[in-house]
Amino acid sequence: MKICSLASGSRGNSLFVESEYSRILIDAGLSASQIKERLNFIKVDPTSIEGIVITHIHRDHINGANAFSRQFNIPIYGHPDTLDELTFIFSRNKRITPWTGPFSIADFDLEPFRVSHDAIPTVGYLITNQNKKMVICTDLGIITPEVEQHVKQAQFIILESNHDPEMLMNGPYPWELKERISSRLGHLSNHDTGVFLKNILHGNIQKILLAHLSEENNSPEMARQTVLEYLGSQAETTLEVIEQRKVSTLFEF
Ligand SMILES: [Zn+2]
Ligand SMILES: [Zn+2]
Repeated sequence: MKICSLASGSRGNSLFVESEYSRILIDAGLSASQIKERLNFIKVDPTSIEGIVITHIHRDHINGANAFSRQFNIPIYGHPDTLDELTFIFSRNKRITPWTGPFSIADFDLEPFRVSHDAIPTVGYLITNQNKKMVICTDLGIITPEVEQHVKQAQFIILESNHDPEMLMNGPYPWELKERISSRLGHLSNHDTGVFLKNILHGNIQKILLAHLSEENNSPEMARQTVLEYLGSQAETTLEVIEQRKVSTLFEF
């Protein structure tokens, strides 16, 4: 599989995933033109995308989904409740495809799992192609057994590491927003992510990407450093950060 983050963070999320035969996007939270531009940057023709898979209805995950889907005639996959709530946006889009459990797009098998977040439902996806598994799991306030069970199966892990708790508490956000972010329905801190990854670390993990970093209450260096403190220096080459404003490396595993 090849994987490239087009953007990650509260201003827009979109992940490109490629197998030998097909290509999908997980979330389309940038504008359609930005998604197109960033795909061009990695030399991917937007018409070759076979599905847009949605995690939840927050704007930073769906912003360009409808326009991109209609422009290139690409189906949108998501939880039925998520797509229902988006009907007013998607009303003239004929390519809405709700899933009711595990589903396939071309040669990808996707297994959705619930995560604890304030858009209900929000899901992560365990994605299998041939004998390889990757997982994407962002926008969650706590690690549940369901999250653990799915994330630990993957050799390629994309996991939220949203904020540094101290920066969040001392930062400029209003109190309600601070509460929301650190609640069970909010976002994982660097420490939450470090503790969890340490628990599930196994020899088959090839890459861990820290995702959905807050631009105000975190930094790539801080997220990586904090999580490395939990994982130890042997994880140095495994652990990387994906960012809001940068198209990532095209990872392959
Ligand atoms: Zn988000
Ligand atoms: Zn969200």
